[in-house]
Amino acid sequence: MKYYSTNGKSSLASFKEAILKGLPDDNGLYMPQEIPELTSSFFRDIDNYSLPEIGYKVIQPFVDGEIPDSILKSIIEETLNFEIPLVKVFDDIYSLELFHGPTFAFKDVGARFLARSLSYFSKKSEQKLTVLVATSGDTGSAVAQGFYGVPNIDVVILFPSGKISYFQEQQMTTLGKNITALEVNGTFDDCQRMVKQAFLDKELIEEMNLTSANSINIARLLPQSIYYFYGVAQIPKDKRQQLVVSVPSGNYGNLSAGLIARQLGLPIQHFLACSNANDTVPKYLETAEYKAQSSVQTISNAMDVGDPSNFQRMLNLYSGSHENMKSDITGYSYSDRETREAIHQVFNKTSYVLDPHGAVGFLGLKEYLTNKAGKGIFLETAHPYKFKEIVEKEINIELPPVLSFDELQKKSSSFSSKFEALKAFLLEK
Ligand SMILES: *Cc1c(COP(=O)(O)O)cnc(C)c1O
Repeated sequence: MKYYSTNGKSSLASFKEAILKGLPDDNGLYMPQEIPELTSSFFRDIDNYSLPEIGYKVIQPFVDGEIPDSILKSIIEETLNFEIPLVKVFDDIYSLELFHGPTFAFKDVGARFLARSLSYFSKKSEQKLTVLVATSGDTGSAVAQGFYGVPNIDVVILFPSGKISYFQEQQMTTLGKNITALEVNGTFDDCQRMVKQAFLDKELIEEMNLTSANSINIARLLPQSIYYFYGVAQIPKDKRQQLVVSVPSGNYGNLSAGLIARQLGLPIQHFLACSNANDTVPKYLETAEYKAQSSVQTISNAMDVGDPSNFQRMLNLYSGSHENMKSDITGYSYSDRETREAIHQVFNKTSYVLDPHGAVGFLGLKEYLTNKAGKGIFLETAHPYKFKEIVEKEINIELPPVLSFDELQKKSSSFSSKFEALKAFLLEK
């Protein structure tokens, strides 16, 4: 399998090259050259497959032997060693709970697969790697935990100061060892810009083996396709028609992975791109004009992205056609007030506890299914306990603790939002 750049100027890359480089030289994003449809027997028997078995079937064609199949199997088993249950919330509305991994958000799936795959390649070539990552919250904690203690790999995480939750900050700033967290005086978009610039800086690229762990890295994105299959497999066979999947979105990696799952043959009729006030993509779907915005802070903070990088991938999957994208995807945007209300109402009606991100996905699904036949799954992307300050206020009870942190000493340092500062820091390392 070869990988091309969405900008079309860089040469084709192997899986190994694409994952190690993170970004192609022409500032595009890597995409698999083919998305081969899975066999009908796989779909017929999918109910009998375990989560890691589905994972292997979905991922193997993309890795295509570059990691030997037996090692790939164990990488996938280690990556997916937690449950991803589908929970019925209303008659036609299901929640796919992606938050049962170690950092209680879906990003564990991609980060754990990436860490293990990178570790395989760096061990083989005996090269030291520096993983550079910008985070709006959950990426940083998943990447920090996924890479912690992995030999030959240093991780540098940039996060916007004061804009992430206490738990997120604890999970990425207290580890030390091979994990460095930089607390940037700026927004997530500043962090992302600095990281992107680093990958285009000739001097840095020559001096060190830089790679990315953002969802711009294709090896984080591809394994996210797996749980779309596993989610559908948990719906009774005769009820899988007219299925809608609602994706609470920020950088649009999760939604891109869903679109790839569909091209692999998964019967999903329609997707919903649900955002908070950062509604660049819903606006694009409505107007056919893409206008990057500055990010606005909301209570679903992992989705506070004004210029989502994976939009390029979405556009590529539709050969640049707004019309085709629009016939497959509907966009919605919800305010913090609506999000809080959804948490409140769903709990009162069903006792199901939404987190603020899942609540945005739920709202879109509910709106789309109004006056329509059909069933839907929304992705519950984070554990409600991660946002307990917000959630408990709406449900009026205390959530039982699931995250056990010792109050560890924070080991991050305040950092400038200028690229030159990052460059100097990296060169010194
Ligand atoms: C990252 C994240 C999102 C947004 O996912 P994208 O792939 O960036 O669109 C949504 N919810 C949670 C909890 C997240 O951590």
